[in-house]
Amino acid sequence: MSTVPYAYTGSTKNPKRSLWERSSSAEVTGDRGDFSEWSEKEETNIKGKQAAGLLGPRIVIIGAGMSGLLMAIKLKEAGLDNFILCEKGTDVGGVWRDNTYPGLKCDIPAHMYTYSFESNPSYKQRFAAGSEIRSYLERVAVKFDLRSKIRFGKSIESAVFDEPNGRWLLSSQDGETLVADIVVWAGGILHQPKLPDITGREGFAGHSFHTARWEHRINLRDQRVGIIGTGSTGVQVVAAIASDTKHLTVFQRTPHWIFPLPNRNYNLASQEHVRHWPGYAKFLRWSYTMLFQWTFARAVTGNAMLQKLMQWQSQYFLNRKVKDRVLLKRLTPDYKAGCKRMILARGYYEALQRSNVTLVDSSIQRIVPNGVVTCDGTHHELDVLIYATGFHAHQYMRPMKVIGVEGKSLDDTWSESVFAHRSVALPGFPNFFMLLGPQSPIGNFSAISVAETQVKYLMHLIEEIRSGRCDLINPKQEITEVLDRKITEGMSKTVWVSGCNSWYLDDKGKTTMWPWTFERFRAELKRPQLDEFRMTQKSSKADSNSLLNDPQIQTMLTR
Ligand SMILES: Cc1cc2nc3c(=O)[nH]c(=O)nc-3n(C[C@H](O)[C@H](O)[C@H](O)COP(=O)(O)OP(=O)(O)OC[C@H]3O[C@@H](n4cnc5c(N)ncnc54)[C@H](O)[C@@H]3O)c2cc1C
Repeated sequence: MSTVPYAYTGSTKNPKRSLWERSSSAEVTGDRGDFSEWSEKEETNIKGKQAAGLLGPRIVIIGAGMSGLLMAIKLKEAGLDNFILCEKGTDVGGVWRDNTYPGLKCDIPAHMYTYSFESNPSYKQRFAAGSEIRSYLERVAVKFDLRSKIRFGKSIESAVFDEPNGRWLLSSQDGETLVADIVVWAGGILHQPKLPDITGREGFAGHSFHTARWEHRINLRDQRVGIIGTGSTGVQVVAAIASDTKHLTVFQRTPHWIFPLPNRNYNLASQEHVRHWPGYAKFLRWSYTMLFQWTFARAVTGNAMLQKLMQWQSQYFLNRKVKDRVLLKRLTPDYKAGCKRMILARGYYEALQRSNVTLVDSSIQRIVPNGVVTCDGTHHELDVLIYATGFHAHQYMRPMKVIGVEGKSLDDTWSESVFAHRSVALPGFPNFFMLLGPQSPIGNFSAISVAETQVKYLMHLIEEIRSGRCDLINPKQEITEVLDRKITEGMSKTVWVSGCNSWYLDDKGKTTMWPWTFERFRAELKRPQLDEFRMTQKSSKADSNSLLNDPQIQTMLTR
């Protein structure tokens, strides 16, 4: 039950259980700190302490995945301890907690997928297993003493900017209202599983599940298994389970390019090197980062020669692995390498050539209780159906409702397409920041490096607030529009718009990625140019009425 006077009931009237909740136990685990001061009731008390300079701004971080933890570490490092993380799951780790499918691996060299300040000597392979990354993030949370700052099982449903009081009111699924001076959304981009819109899906009588909600209690041995989707995840799953099924049918809509970067095992000696020589760990991280920065990142953002080289290597790999000319043709993409996310994985082509595996590239017409019917009229009988169909990558924080200045909603702001000010902020939403927001450099690169760049940038902005130079900071609309136009122009040179359909493009065909090199991103976000922002003080006419009681706001939240 809520302990706050302004318990908001809009979203709790009809709580929709998400896929995540369905698959995890109802019990909420984790360490619990004292979070009472974050409720609206304690505001006066807190304001007194803030005025006396005892506390910094109240910061709520939404999400305790890789980027939420990073934000928390950097706030602590700066002596800004007045923050909490709200995490709807029961543990840290984000996608590495949710995705437990067989064959899950980091698809970039794992030493590149570490925080720059915390190496991971425990990686056992170049492309480490997902469970190793999850353990790493769990260890980081303990080492940096973050668990007591995390409210597990706390799903934030809405964020409303309380303009008269210059603060954010966050409502959680359990009906509590939290108050924050600054909100950092770190809720992830590949977080909401996407199920395909295929007739008859609900009527499948066997077991079916999305790869991000793997049903480990189902034994695939002796089962006729179907898998829809052949992107990064589908490829990893097929390679891992092919030999464990009675029969595996792989439904391919489009073939993908696979780049042949070999995996390698790290033996104990090599792990000890990383453990004892921080310089060596840094060197590994740096050298892989350079390799990816100078090859993949450039190949997709306009370097035609590197793109051709990448494609040639992938084609050579395919030719070497698949000798059957018909199969080779069916597995050869008709678009440029890099247009869809490049896959770095092993074992897929071998798995497809097993006698118990069938590749189907006729489109799916419908799902029936005992299988899948394809447009060529074939009925594929199945006991288990797996969806490797990706995520709603353009949703960002939605369906969470966010309402900013003058009651403008995020849904309206992004009605045409998603955009952001330098990937981290939005005009009309003061002190509301994002990590891995729209127009971040997402692709075959480490999301950790991207988040580190963004956190560093945000720390400068937060410092402006902490120091009292302003209370509210918000990008100027006109500057964001100019930057957005430049980014859209920059897209024309990238391989993502060269004629394929991918999750890099939204439903209008616009890509929401960073179109240039990662070095340029890092350079542009090195320090905020403060004249790009409106920096203001809170209104002196504070209003004690909670905005959440406003009938108009209530309507917007329940819409
Ligand atoms: C299968 C898979 C493999 C990947 N492999 C790689 C890779 O090899 N290299 C790479 O760089 N990237 C990879 N990624 C991308 C990955 O998304 C990022 O690397 C990284 O995990 C993003 O971290 P995050 O903390 O921003 O988001 P997430 O890991 O998604 O974490 C977000 C957290 O926020 C919580 N949350 C969301 N909404 C709310 C809410 N409203 N209230 C409370 N809590 C909320 C979620 O429960 C979750 O714990 C992969 C993604 C997937 C799905």
